[in-house]
Amino acid sequence: MNLITELVIANRILANEDVVDAYGHVSIRNPEAPDRFFLAHSKSPALVEADDIVEHTLAGQAAQPEKRPLYLERFIHAAIYEARPEVMAVVHAHAEDVLPFTITRPALRPVIHSGAFIGAEVPVWDIADQFGDRTNLLVTDIAQGRDLAKRLGANNVALMRGHGFAAAARSLIDVVRMSVYLPRNARVQFKAMQLGDMKPLSSGEIQARSAGPGYKPQSPETQRAWQYWAQRAGCAHLLKS
Ligand code: MN
Repeated sequence: MNLITELVIANRILANEDVVDAYGHVSIRNPEAPDRFFLAHSKSPALVEADDIVEHTLAGQAAQPEKRPLYLERFIHAAIYEARPEVMAVVHAHAEDVLPFTITRPALRPVIHSGAFIGAEVPVWDIADQFGDRTNLLVTDIAQGRDLAKRLGANNVALMRGHGFAAAARSLIDVVRMSVYLPRNARVQFKAMQLGDMKPLSSGEIQARSAGPGYKPQSPETQRAWQYWAQRAGCAHLLKS
C-alpha cells in the first residue's frame, strides 16, 4: 500500500482511539530518502488527508517550499529520526491517562501483555533540566528535540513531564499499536496501584513480546488490529487504495 495512504490511516486511527485529539501527530520516515520524513502540516489528525502530508528534513523544516504552517513540535520527530537510524515511525501525543506518570515518582512500566511493546524502561524527560523554567513545555526547536531524543535513548517511549509522550518504532503499525496500548497500560497500572501490590510483566515476558528476531510487522495478528482500527475510524475504504 501507498505510504502516504498508510500515514493518513494512522492519523485517523490515533484520533479515533483518543490517543491524539486536536493536537498530537504521527510521522513516517521516507524509506527512499532516510534523511527525510513525512508528517502532516499543522492540522488535527482526524482531518488529515493525503494532500496534507509534507516531507520534512531532519532539521525539522519542509523539504520543499511550503506555505501552510507546520506543527510547532515537528522537531520531536526530526531529532528522533536523526538519533535512531532504525526508527521508521514516530508518534507524539498528550493522552490523558499517561500524564499522571509524567509528574509523579512511580515509573510507568508494562503491566499487561499488550503493554509489553512499550519496553521495560520508560524514561521521563523534563524540559526544565536543560532549558530552565521559562519554556512553554513544547518542543519548539531542534536543540530541545535532541535533548528529548537523548533521554529516549534506545527505548521505545519517553514520557514528557506535564505534557505527554513520544514513541518510536521500526514500523508505522508498531508505533500506532504501542501508542494505542500505552494509555491502556497506564490506566490498568493506575488502578492496580490503588488496589495494592502489583505484579508487572517480567523482563523475560517483555522480551518475548518485543521486536526480537521473530519480528513480523506484517503478521496476521498485527494486520488484524490495523484493519479493526481502520474500520472503527471510518477509513476501511482506504485500506484497499
Ligand atoms: Mn505536545
